[in-house]
Amino acid sequence: MLRLIFLGPPGAGKGTQAERLSAIYRTPKISTGDLLRAEVKAQTPLGQQAKVYMDAGELVPDEVLIGMVKSRLQQLPEQGWILDGFPRTLAQAEALEELLRELGQDYDHVLNLEVPDEVVVARLLARGKEQGRSDDADEAVILKRLQVYRQQTAPLIDFYEAKGRLRRINGNQPMEVVQQHLQTLLEGCRRTA
Ligand code: AMP
Repeated sequence: MLRLIFLGPPGAGKGTQAERLSAIYRTPKISTGDLLRAEVKAQTPLGQQAKVYMDAGELVPDEVLIGMVKSRLQQLPEQGWILDGFPRTLAQAEALEELLRELGQDYDHVLNLEVPDEVVVARLLARGKEQGRSDDADEAVILKRLQVYRQQTAPLIDFYEAKGRLRRINGNQPMEVVQQHLQTLLEGCRRTA
């Protein structure tokens, strides 16, 4: 059973790699961005609240995200999980530690996909054109998301490094190569486990 956390700036390839590993290892993926976009699409009260933050490139409040992830992790005791896009703040990371303690669960690795800023901006602009994601179409919103990432999410690298759980992966490579590195890392760890 696998329990993984993906870290990295927007456009680092977290969603793509989480999706691929989810299929290969038959492990459910929990993507908070996808969950929020589904709420926005369904025009639920939560979706309407979240949209304002998402369109501005800001983070949706911690309580909302922590509640969303909590209810899902409680349902997945046996299958494991792959978190994509959560945690994104220290408060979320600490809430996750506490929740996992309560549930008697632990994660195997925190996978940090490293990609330079200029590559991320180019990737997000391309994705905005292809997928019509409104928060990817506007360069000002992209730059805001990168700024929010640096201020609020990048400190998680030190948080997990201090726990000895961080694995750094060069995300500035073709997706097949990144995927291969991830599989090698996961299978290497399983063999020695
Ligand atoms: P993503 O698809 O992961 O890039 O997420 C899209 C947007 O959803 C982000 O720019 C945030 O506004 C919001 N979001 C997703 N995950 C989180 C999170 N863990 N905490 C706060 N906001 C989030």
